[in-house]
Amino acid sequence: MTLEVTDFSARYGRIEVCRGIGFTVAPGEFLVVLGANGAGKSTLLGALAGLVTSTGEITLDGTRLDAAPARRRAGMGVALVPEGRRNLFAPLTVDENLQLGLRLLPAGEREAMRAELLGLFPILAERGRQAAGMLSGGEQQMLALAVALARRPAVLLLDEPTQGLAPIVLDELAAAIRRLRPLGLALVLAEQNVRFAAGLADRYVALRGGEIVQAGGADELRDHRFAAASLLGAA
Ligand code: ATP
Repeated sequence: MTLEVTDFSARYGRIEVCRGIGFTVAPGEFLVVLGANGAGKSTLLGALAGLVTSTGEITLDGTRLDAAPARRRAGMGVALVPEGRRNLFAPLTVDENLQLGLRLLPAGEREAMRAELLGLFPILAERGRQAAGMLSGGEQQMLALAVALARRPAVLLLDEPTQGLAPIVLDELAAAIRRLRPLGLALVLAEQNVRFAAGLADRYVALRGGEIVQAGGADELRDHRFAAASLLGAA
C-alpha cells in the first residue's frame, strides 16, 4: 500500500519537534529519513505510528490513519521497529519473542509466517532457544525486524537499526533488509549512517531541526562523505 504523509507535524506537549513534513512511499519502495542526532527522526516515526502527538494527514492507499490510535494503526498495517530494539523482551527466548509477534495473526497463518520469517533471517532458527538479550546486536536487530514483520504490515517504520552495532555486522544487516524487497512493503528507514542508508535507499529526505531540508534519489548519496557533510552537517 502507498503511504502518504502531508503537512505533518509532531510535538511533545508544547514543544513542536517536526513540522511541515510531506512524502509518499510506494509499495516496495525504501525511503530513508536521514538526520543527525536530535533532528527528529524518532519523533517522526513515533508520530506516524501514533505514539507521539501529531497534526497533518497520513493515508494508506487513500485511507486516513491520522485520527486512529496507535493500536488501530498497527491493525491497519503500520509496524514500528523502535530505536534500541525496544520491541524485544530480553529475558524471553527468540522463539517466544517471535510467538508474541505472531499471535496477532489468525492462528491458521502463524506457522507459515514463522517459516517465512526464519527463511528471511536464518540465524533466528539457530538461536531459537536463546534469550533475546543474549544475542549479538545484529542478531537482536534481525529478531526485532522479524517480530515487527510477523503481522504482515504494509508499512514498516525502522528506526536507526545500525545504532550500537559493530561496523562488521552492518553489511549482513543491510543484506537482510534487502531481502524484504519482494514483500512489497513501504519502508521508512531513519538513519544517520549514510553509507548504510545509501545501500538500501530508493529515495531520501534529509531532516534538520524537524524539517525536511532536502530530498532526492539514492544516487545523490553515493558519495557518502559528501552526503553526510551536506545533509547531516557531519564532518
Ligand atoms: P537520535 O538519533 O538521537 O534518536 P532523532 O533524530 O531521532 O535523534 P529525536 O529523538 O526525534 O531525534 O529528538 C528530536 C528532538 O526532540 C530533540 O531535541 C529531543 O531532545 C526532543 N525530544 C525527544 N524526545 C522527547 C520527549 N519525550 N519530550 C520532549 N522532547 C523530546
